[in-house]
Amino acid sequence: MGKSTGVSRKIDELGRVVIPKEIRRDLELDDGDSVDFTVEPGGRIVIQKVGIYCAICGKKLKREGTYIKLGTKAMCVDCITTANAAYKTSEHNV
Ligand SMILES: [Zn+2]
Repeated sequence: MGKSTGVSRKIDELGRVVIPKEIRRDLELDDGDSVDFTVEPGGRIVIQKVGIYCAICGKKLKREGTYIKLGTKAMCVDCITTANAAYKTSEHNV
């Protein structure tokens, strides 16, 4: 269970809720992105971002060719580069 952000929003007459700007920024949620709703026992509503994200740094992966898929996970070019450099300097490769 995550911690509350302490931010509350009212539902408008059309049933809309604005996701606070800070949360959208932190989670890299942009206009046009999709979110998935899960209703848990006890009435908790979980809103999850939908899309492909780097398993290491969490960055949103938008374009093919800027990441690789590893089974059900994905990894961005920056993390691949960092992992490669770390591996090359590690004892495993001496
Ligand atoms: Zn990454």
